[in-house]
Amino acid sequence: MITGKNRIGYRYSSEGTVTFKTFNPLLNFENESVFYEASDTEINEAVRLADEAFKNYRTIPGYKKAEFLRSIADEILNLDDALIHMYCSESGLPEGRAKGERGRTIGQLRMFADLVENGSWVEATIDTANPDRTPLPKPDLRKMLIPLGPVVVFGASNFPLAYSTAGGDTASALAAGCPVIVKSHPMHAGTGELVASAILKAAKSNGMPDGVFSNLNSSGIEVGTILVKHPNIKAVGFTGSINGGRALFNLSSAREEPIPVFAEMGSINPVIILPQALKTKSADLAKTYASSITLGTGQFCTNPGLILGIESGELSKFIDSLSMEILKKEPNCMLHPKIKWSYDENKDVAISQSQTMVVANYEQDVEPNFAQQALLTVRGDTFLDNPQLHHEVFGPFSLIVQCKSIEQLEQIISKLEGQLTGTIIAHDDEISKYPKLVATLKNRVGRIIFNGVPTGVEVCPAMTHGGPYPASTDSRFTAVGIHSIKRWVRPFSYQDWPNHLLPDELKNENPLKLSRLVNNQQTSDKL
Ligand code: NAP
Repeated sequence: MITGKNRIGYRYSSEGTVTFKTFNPLLNFENESVFYEASDTEINEAVRLADEAFKNYRTIPGYKKAEFLRSIADEILNLDDALIHMYCSESGLPEGRAKGERGRTIGQLRMFADLVENGSWVEATIDTANPDRTPLPKPDLRKMLIPLGPVVVFGASNFPLAYSTAGGDTASALAAGCPVIVKSHPMHAGTGELVASAILKAAKSNGMPDGVFSNLNSSGIEVGTILVKHPNIKAVGFTGSINGGRALFNLSSAREEPIPVFAEMGSINPVIILPQALKTKSADLAKTYASSITLGTGQFCTNPGLILGIESGELSKFIDSLSMEILKKEPNCMLHPKIKWSYDENKDVAISQSQTMVVANYEQDVEPNFAQQALLTVRGDTFLDNPQLHHEVFGPFSLIVQCKSIEQLEQIISKLEGQLTGTIIAHDDEISKYPKLVATLKNRVGRIIFNGVPTGVEVCPAMTHGGPYPASTDSRFTAVGIHSIKRWVRPFSYQDWPNHLLPDELKNENPLKLSRLVNNQQTSDKL
């Protein structure tokens, strides 16, 4: 049962006067439930509670946080069909996708539970004292990672579960010991409310402090703006557009106390097809890439929005095959009329640029909110001269750049903005002939792929999901995998601190049996 209310810690609240509804893009009507946008008082109360909760939550041992995270996963599963139906009704995405994303979401929660239960992630580091050192005695120093404080999380429209209310940002921040306030995505506020109820049920049954989690509704940017500017918020997690992420980054930089904003934003994910591979793999590539470009109606941050090759008969043939394959795909529903409107507008802007050629544009009539896929091509010179063509068109769209030489291709890559991924399609013995091209690509991206597609982000410790700006606002971190927890912590050292007052992670006895760096040796031994 959807209440439409905000969750200020354990309390339901609907004091605000602004209301809104979500939209079913597949059936093209507004959903029934009415959501109450959080008022200034409610926002301030959520932050006050989070700040209060932090005093206790930051000291909760890893095994208890692990139980909390596992209970969240269980409670999400307990929502069962109600969650799946809500997800589909607010996103137009199919049931299979909803179930897949739910699996990913609970998998992430359990992954962080395992991480904090083990505890070694705090990177406990001990340098014991040497009172006899000359000319000065060496003090005893002990360092570990500690949580930053209350975190605000903004989820993306295209992942109502895995990059949203209980998605990777929330799971990693809670694992780190930070209370979380979610600024619920207005397009899937009902899904957000259900997931928030699961988180709070788990919090209560595990004795977590009131305020460890809050969920605030909003239909515009005001609630998020107030949250990011609030002095008691200590970090921000954002997944969404470049405009949104940059606006939040600017807001945080203008604060009296600037705070980190980890914004994961858009990308066009360049795919380079080397000449030999094109000769032998063209037909298969066309099929594979038609599927990747249209997967999820192109609404993925890793969508291959830019394909580059060297001008040739083979490249022309590939363009024809890809056009044919892409037009065979059935158009699909986009997440929201606003997203469909932006897609059409951005596609038209790309088409209207001089010297672009439309090679495929699905022209048959489609249902409302369904996207018509398109493929454009342009010469390397034109692409280099026109930065407008470097922008993401969020949807089933790609641009093929025909370069006059490998040198030009390399120049184009070096001029691209930062990207989440870069892909090279080549024969095994072909790629080694282009070390400069590979090095240039590595310099622009967070993940490099050999003979594959960029869509599909595996959740595992070795994944980097991020990249140079504007793929993310801080290329030193990943938003996916266990290392994403490092966004919410800071290093902290104790000098000559009494052993019995140290946290368990740093005590001589090593009661948690952690792997620690002691006097430069990795060991699980006691001191
Ligand atoms: P969005 O329009 O940027 O919205 C994301 C959230 O940020 C919403 O809650 C939105 O609130 C809020 N927001 C946007 N601008 C804001 C501002 N100026 N001040 C305060 N809050 C602001 O993005 P989206 O439509 O949800 O997602 C699509 C985009 O996300 C695509 O560009 C895609 O490539 C990218 N994406 C990136 C990743 C990644 O991991 N890098 C993953 C998925 C998607 P309101 O809606 O209430 O205004």
